[in-house]
Parts: sequence; C-alpha cells; structure tokens
Amino acid sequence: MRVYNTLSKRKEEFVTLEPGKVKMYVCGPTVYNLIHIGNARPMIVFDTARRYLEHKGYEVNYVSNFTDVDDKIIAKANEEGVSSQEISERYIAECQKDMEALNVRPATTHPRATQEIDGMIAMIQTLIDKDYAYDVDGTVYFRTRKFKEYGKLSHKNLDDLRSGSRSLLVTGEDQKEDPLDFVLWKPKKEGEPSWSSPWSDGRPGWHIECSVMSKKYLGEEIDIHAGGEDLIFPHHENEIAQSECCNGKPFAKYWLHNAFLNIDNRKMSKSLGNFFTVREILEKYDAQVLRFFMLSAHYRSPLNFSADLMDAAKNALERIQNAVSNLSYLVENSSTSENAGSGMEKASASEKVAAKTDNIPASDKTISDMADANYGLTAPEQKILVGAKAFETKFDEAMDDDFNTADAIAAVFELVKYANSNLSADNSKELILAVREEIVGLCGILGLIVEEKEELLDADVEALIVERQAARKARNFARADEIRDQLAALGITLLDTREGVKWKRA
Ligand code: AMP
Ligand code: ZN
Repeated sequence: MRVYNTLSKRKEEFVTLEPGKVKMYVCGPTVYNLIHIGNARPMIVFDTARRYLEHKGYEVNYVSNFTDVDDKIIAKANEEGVSSQEISERYIAECQKDMEALNVRPATTHPRATQEIDGMIAMIQTLIDKDYAYDVDGTVYFRTRKFKEYGKLSHKNLDDLRSGSRSLLVTGEDQKEDPLDFVLWKPKKEGEPSWSSPWSDGRPGWHIECSVMSKKYLGEEIDIHAGGEDLIFPHHENEIAQSECCNGKPFAKYWLHNAFLNIDNRKMSKSLGNFFTVREILEKYDAQVLRFFMLSAHYRSPLNFSADLMDAAKNALERIQNAVSNLSYLVENSSTSENAGSGMEKASASEKVAAKTDNIPASDKTISDMADANYGLTAPEQKILVGAKAFETKFDEAMDDDFNTADAIAAVFELVKYANSNLSADNSKELILAVREEIVGLCGILGLIVEEKEELLDADVEALIVERQAARKARNFARADEIRDQLAALGITLLDTREGVKWKRA
C-alpha cells in the first residue's frame, strides 16, 4: 500500500512502526458551534482510511481530539452568558450526533484539551529545560530558530517566513525573540478559564494540545497524523517542532492532509460565512448521500459542493442500493444449488454456507472464503463468482493507492453492473447471496450502508449482543464495533449498565 506523505511530497510505501498496528492521530474540531460539512470531510475520509486499514488486518489505535478551550469558545460563552465548558460540552454532544449519522465511528480515544492540562505543563517545562522555550512575563514561547528542521512539513523557507511574518505580529507579542516563535502558554485575561502553572495562571496554546494528546494516547512516535490541509502550517509544523524537540524522536511517519470542501471554488469556512452545517444538509439528504458525495472524490482533490453534485450522489448511491435489493429479491426467489428443481426441502443459503464453513454466518465470510469453499456451485456459477471477485481486487488496488475512494467506488459500480447482467432467479441462492455480500461488504469498507433496513427480531438482537460480548472478551474490537454499528444502523442502541448490556429500539 502506498500513501502520499506531505513531508516528502510523494507517495511512499506504507510500513508501520510496529507490524500489524497503526497509531493514527486526526486533529479534531474546535467545538463552539455545529460542525459544517467542510469539517465533516476529514472526519469521513480518515474514518474511511481507518476502516480500510482494519480491513487489511491492521489493529488501528485512532485518536481524535476535541479542542474545548479556545478564543472562539470563550467568545461564544460570553455572548450567551454561560460557561465555556457549557458551550464545549453542548457542541461535542452535537458533533457526536453528526458523526454517528454519517457512520463515522467513534475514535478509540477522543481526548479533550481541558482534561490534559497537566501533560501540557509538563511538556512545556521540558521544552524550557531543553532551552527550546522561554518565558516572558508569564507567556511561554517556542524558540523556533533553535529547531533546525522547522519548515520541513510545509516546505517553507524560514527566511521568507521570517520577513513575511513581521507584519503578523499581534499587539503584546513584540517581546518575542523571533517573529516565528509561537505561544505555548498564555496568561489569562479577565473572565477566561484558566489553570495555574509555573509561569502564570493561564491556558495552553492550541498547538501544544495535539503534541501532548498524541504522545499520551499513542506514544512518542506515531504512524499517521492527519487533518485538513489548512493545518499544515502553522499547526502541524509547530506540533512537529514541539514533539521532536521534547522527545528527541521523529514525531509522525506519514502526514496526510485532505483538500478543502469548497463552494464556488472557495474554501467553505465559518469565517467566510459560506458554509452549510451537517445538520442543514441532513434535513434535505440522507446522511449516506453526504458520505457518498465526500468519497466520490479523492481526499487530496478539492471538492466543490453543489446541489447538482449532491443529487448525482443520491442517484448513484440509489443505483447500488437498488442492485442490492434486487439481489435480495432474487435470493428469495431462487433455488439452492444442490436442491434446484429437486423438490427436496431447501436449506437457507446462509445455513448452507455456515455448514460448509465452520458455523460462521455467511455475512461474515469474505468473497474469497466463499470462492474457496465453493459450496456446491456449478462450474459456470463458480466462474461468475470468480468474475465478481475480480472487482474486489480492483477495489483494493484503488484503496492501496493512497486511499483512492473515487476509483474504489468505480469498482463497486462495475461490480453492480456485472451483477445486474450476470445474475437472475435461475442462479442458485448461494451465488446470488455471495455477490450481494460482495457489494454490501465493499461498500461497508467505505462506511456506506447499502442494505435495506431489516427488522431484527428480539432474539436476533440478543444473539448479536452475546456475540459482541464474546468478541470484546477475545479483544476482537473490530468485530465488536461492527456488531454495534450493525445494530445502530437498525436503530438499536446498546447501553452498558451495571447489570449488563441493555438495549432499546430508537
Ligand atoms: P477547525 O474546527 O476549524 O479546527 O477544523 C476541524 C477540521 O476540519 C480540520 O482538520 C480542518 O482542516 C478541517 N476543515 C475545516 N474546513 C474545511 C473545509 N472547507 N474543507 C475541508 N476540511 C476542512
Ligand atoms: Zn492538531
């Protein structure tokens, strides 16, 4: 697999620090308002990268923060006459609702800046001790000129930056040794949330948060650090400076950045006022349509938002969903391969697959397992199955090429076309089911739900909960999460209580 690394400006072979494990950090939102669909782009594309890495067998430790102390949060709190904490908690909860709707899986850990202040104070102290930072009247600055590699991520020339950034100096910052020095800790102003520190009662700068949370939850060296391309400079450049100077090790191996979601070729942003919240879009479109729209472009290509493109996404997604429900209909109306036309009692397709493959339900089997198991398919049907399998290879090749979801979706469409023209009720249930599972499975890797919502019987829900508990016990968290997602998609919420897991229908 190859990924594009902003650090080297080229695609590189993906090799993890530890075999089979990925440590991944994605910069999360500042929570002072409902998120807009521009903010949803990194959430969706990096959630998809995570799902694909898991599909390839990696165990992914995925950390994404909430920035819950910031000027904008404080301003909003003052505007409403409530505490900053009330604002951030409200919008974290709202953000989580949007993520759930968009089928963005919760991170392994979602740290919040305000709960990690001790770690930030410790890292700032280390930087001061190592002479990489200095305190001027309670404000602590990072001494950028001391870090020789500063600028390596954004590929900026330091002298140009230095002369250009003099004009960026804000009042009160003229005490800096160098215009490129940035704030690690700042003293509080009246009415602001603050924490005591060796330098002043105050609060951390934004950049130090991510260095600290990444170190605490993933370690000093990580595999992937990601976010929108506006974060390359200065945020990620500064994170590298802080982490590498503090830890004396390279910070992240691969730096991944998504391009902007634009409107009329301009970045969608709160400050320009040209944004739609996820909530607004979900009033008009199913959340799956928004997810599909985001994945229809490569994550490093700018994507222009328009009603026409959303309608096109809706139609395209419906074509896949219709193909899947046609196949479900065909499964109901076809015979099993061995019993076709024999008048014998027919085993259900999934029962049959299970019988041949260690009692694992059909839905858990990959197409490869199915082809290998061959479970009684006739030679021509096996050929059709092998033909369908070729699209899985195409899909994987696209995703192996820097998570090219646009080409991966194209492979799904080819498979849909193939299914539509090669399958009919004359085929065996097993074959139809296998091809159906192939489409549903590939879409699932992209986090797209294309199955018709089915009603689950109470007993089925309980069986899945038991399976989920067993998976958790066996530390198979991917399977446990998959079951939770599957239940969530059917409107079933799980509640972990002292008496065990309870569930309710939405
Ligand atoms: P913020 O809350 O502004 O820090 O943004 C949270 C995340 O959303 C960051 O990774 C940003 O780079 C990303 N982001 C913000 N606006 C856009 C946009 N219009 N298109 C793509 N990503 C964006
Ligand atoms: Zn960050």
